[in-house]
Amino acid sequence: MAYKILKSQCILCGDCEFECPNSAIRFKGDSYIIDQDKCSECEGHFDTPRCAEVCPVPGTCVPA
Ligand code: SF4
Ligand code: SF4
Repeated sequence: MAYKILKSQCILCGDCEFECPNSAIRFKGDSYIIDQDKCSECEGHFDTPRCAEVCPVPGTCVPA
């Protein structure tokens, strides 16, 4: 299970990038992406997916 970032909604604020406990989020090309192999949906670190928690645009970090 992993999360993804909806490119059409992301405002490129970067708030999520360094909040990820697995360093799964990075800026590539012209957008932020989540490495599906690294994302654990924050299991063992946070009760809810951290990227979705800190993202200022609701519904941008969602289940892949
Ligand atoms: S759900 Fe958690 S582990 Fe997955 S990308 Fe978001 S912050 Fe990182
Ligand atoms: S916090 Fe949300 S809006 Fe900001 S870069 Fe991450 S996904 Fe995009």
